[in-house]
Amino acid sequence: VTQNGSPKAQVEDYISKNKVMMFSKTTCPFCTKIKDLFKNLNVEFQVLELDQISNGADLQNALLEVSGQKTVPNIYINSKHLGGCDDTLKAQAENRLLPMINDDGENYDYDLIVIGGGSGGLAASKEAASLGRKVAVFDFVQPSPTGTTWGLGGTCVNVGCIMIETNAPSCIISSYIVIWGAINIVFIKIFTYLQGSIVGIKLRICFIQDHIGSLNWGYRVQLREKKVDYHNAYAQFVDKHTIKAVNKKGKEIIKTARHFILAMGERPRYPDIPGAKEFGITSDDLFSLPYCPGKTLMVGASYVSLECGGFLKAIGMDVTVMVRSILLRGFDQQMADKIGDYMGLHGIDFVRPCVPTKIEKLQDRQDGKPGLYKVYGKYNDGTEYSDEFNTVIFAIGRDPCTQNIGLDKVGVQMSKNGFVISNDADQTNISNIYAIGDILEGKPELTPVAIHSGRLLARRLYENGTLLTDYINVCTTVFTPLEYGCCGYSEEDAIQKFGEDKIEVYHSNFWPLEWTVAKRENDACYAKLICLIPEKEKVIGFHVVGPNAGEITQGFGTAIKLGATKTDFDNTIGIHPTCAETFTTLDVTKRGGGSIDTAGC
Ligand code: FAD
Ligand code: NDP
Repeated sequence: VTQNGSPKAQVEDYISKNKVMMFSKTTCPFCTKIKDLFKNLNVEFQVLELDQISNGADLQNALLEVSGQKTVPNIYINSKHLGGCDDTLKAQAENRLLPMINDDGENYDYDLIVIGGGSGGLAASKEAASLGRKVAVFDFVQPSPTGTTWGLGGTCVNVGCIMIETNAPSCIISSYIVIWGAINIVFIKIFTYLQGSIVGIKLRICFIQDHIGSLNWGYRVQLREKKVDYHNAYAQFVDKHTIKAVNKKGKEIIKTARHFILAMGERPRYPDIPGAKEFGITSDDLFSLPYCPGKTLMVGASYVSLECGGFLKAIGMDVTVMVRSILLRGFDQQMADKIGDYMGLHGIDFVRPCVPTKIEKLQDRQDGKPGLYKVYGKYNDGTEYSDEFNTVIFAIGRDPCTQNIGLDKVGVQMSKNGFVISNDADQTNISNIYAIGDILEGKPELTPVAIHSGRLLARRLYENGTLLTDYINVCTTVFTPLEYGCCGYSEEDAIQKFGEDKIEVYHSNFWPLEWTVAKRENDACYAKLICLIPEKEKVIGFHVVGPNAGEITQGFGTAIKLGATKTDFDNTIGIHPTCAETFTTLDVTKRGGGSIDTAGC
């Protein structure tokens, strides 16, 4: 900025050369407020402290002439006068501030480009388009090491939630009944037998892939109806407003946009051991195997491993789970152990604590038949492990798809594991680039979370939306043979955060009515509420293992989000006879002791 011209020329120079220009004084509290606001919004801005320069008073007079405002802060965005503190706060409250900053007067191909057409990306793009914006989605699935690939819709629809749910024991039984029940009960019996055989598996894959195909098609139709341009191409950043995308034929296109939303999701990780990629598979491949998996080893002990292990057992496979340390890290460990005990009791082998060290091929996979592999491992105490399996499935975590797409080139900040770091408004450190879904650092990796944040982000960008995604108190369910639903703190985390003396834990076993007649276990199902004593026993943790735990948790989720206390739960009249009513009658505390055995009606 020129220091030689007249005060007016100097002021005009500052304004024209800086995207966000703030004339300020170090002693002014209103100036500090706006500086803090810009910092929180990750906005780069230039400040001139008028009380720190010799000709400050002259420049302030020149400002009056140029802007009609003499007081500070005096703010210009893209050379346009915004005003002072109140004007800036008002623009922020009305969601006009960031659009003003991002509106650089350039002509872009799109208002918004979304990279990734999964749960989050589709939700954000459709919402932005329905708010009248010109939007494009780029979605491309890179084949897994064994060559599996799929269509539009991302992980959830193609190789995630839907696959697990449609393969869950209850669905397996009911789908065969629906399909064949009309014909003859004998067929049901045959199909119950066939479900673990190659014919049964192939039929099942056909039914499920057919359903997925219709969903993939449905998403394309929805995008077309909303006038979102869909490109089946792999996108990489050229600069912060430009991407280059390559389709499967190698054709390249370049497109520009004012805003970008990153929603690339994750892909399964493989361990760095001999034979892992050659002979192992992951959940990406499991649901389209052209053969019956046979004797299966699940490596890993979290959501994916335990859920896949559970449904494979339900269709008659011999299943072993190799656990490195604990089950379901991050979840309430009492509940995790209950799930493990139940799975163990129902025929799933657990090898723990152990990690695989090598896989050798004994027999090749053939058309319609799995291979045979020898898996070597090491227990924590150094003892060697080995066994033979037809299928080895790695479920040891997932890596965000953030590498080699030019994020480093545009300077997007990432954690050391490659997750994108964002602020509460899902904005990265690059002001026109936002991120949602599984790639976010420290946020729940769940479909409804990605969808919700995609919609709210689009509303904040293109409507006067101000709601931020609440990433706390998100309900979740692990669809293991004994379902586990939870919301809020685990017992361990609550104790660590608030101290044991501040926590009251109410609990009880329960015996689902349908289990009583069938004489199933009366101590497997369990309900637990974690309450914060100093806040009138506000419920800060909700945990349940039992049938339909997901449905139960979803129902109570709203109450917990609204801050329900134990008394609110007690004052709720239950529905009899349900499992959920247990939560309205809990009166035994862990501290006090007392029997939690199931009582009668
Ligand atoms: P995704 O849905 O993964 O979509 C990302 C898309 O971007 C993909 O299509 C990807 O190929 C594409 N892409 C990546 N890079 C590029 C690029 N450079 N250019 C173009 N396209 C690109 N959640 C639940 O809530 N409930 C469940 O029961 C559940 N079960 C699950 C079971 C399994 C086995 C797995 C693996 C996950 C499960 N999840 C579940 C998690 C859920 O699937 C994810 O949280 C959700 O899909 C995340 O959505 P997303 O939009 O972030 O990413
Ligand atoms: P996680 O990261 O949650 O768990 C990884 C598991 O693998 C842990 O048990 C970990 O053990 C183990 N592990 C890690 N590295 C190794 C190794 N080298 N050798 C052996 N074991 C190892 O990953 P998931 O793939 O299970 O799940 C990913 C996400 O997908 C979840 O966070 C969840 O949000 C989502 N999801 C949601 C579902 C739902 O809503 N029902 C279902 C499935 C997935 P350790 O504890 O020792 O680190």
